[in-house]
Amino acid sequence: MKLKEIYELFERTGCVTLNTVSGGEPHPRIIHLNGCDDEGIYFRTMISKPFYRHLMENPSLSLCGIYPNGMAQLDEESGSPYFEPGYFIRLIGEARTVSPDVITEKGKTDLRFKTAAHDLTAYPAMINFVIHRARGEVFDYDFEKQGRDHKILRTRFSFGGEEPTVAGCRITDKCTACGKCRKNCTFKAIEKRGDRYQIIPERCDACGTCFKGCPVQAIEPANNL
Ligand code: SF4
Repeated sequence: MKLKEIYELFERTGCVTLNTVSGGEPHPRIIHLNGCDDEGIYFRTMISKPFYRHLMENPSLSLCGIYPNGMAQLDEESGSPYFEPGYFIRLIGEARTVSPDVITEKGKTDLRFKTAAHDLTAYPAMINFVIHRARGEVFDYDFEKQGRDHKILRTRFSFGGEEPTVAGCRITDKCTACGKCRKNCTFKAIEKRGDRYQIIPERCDACGTCFKGCPVQAIEPANNL
């Protein structure tokens, strides 16, 4: 995925949760992003906030947003929660500060940076950051299978030198090809290729049904973002 696409998916959520780390604890807050270019994804805060101090101590952060919303409705007949189709998007990465001059310059030619450039004069404590390296995922869900015949579609991405990772559980060489996992998988994430069964990473929710049910413990749990 291109950085612009990643940014637009975050932007569409309206605002995102951003976590910093300080003193070994995660610190969440809600923010708006304010632009992207080839350098990464931009946001801002005030030099007087703990948020700024955390990032200067430790540049690691995570972002998470959901679209259209995370409200569950109740299916009265089955008693199960119901979610309209949507997606959530998340990343973990690192941010660095961006000088005011760079933002001012970008604001002259890119509408997305215009407000940030304006706010630099309106709020003298304003400071801009760019997430310059990250890896993450778009988790597109359609649990009721309204738009396709499987429940989820996971797209992994990375930028700034990070390597993308593979989602989901994995079937190892211990597999005896009994087929039990494929039968039990409600995500349609397991297929037979030749005489082997394989998990399709983009469809696997790592729900654990196959992991718990395999008679020869041939399945490894998911272990990375
Ligand atoms: Fe292979 Fe285990 Fe799946 Fe059977 S349940 S096909 S042994 S991974």
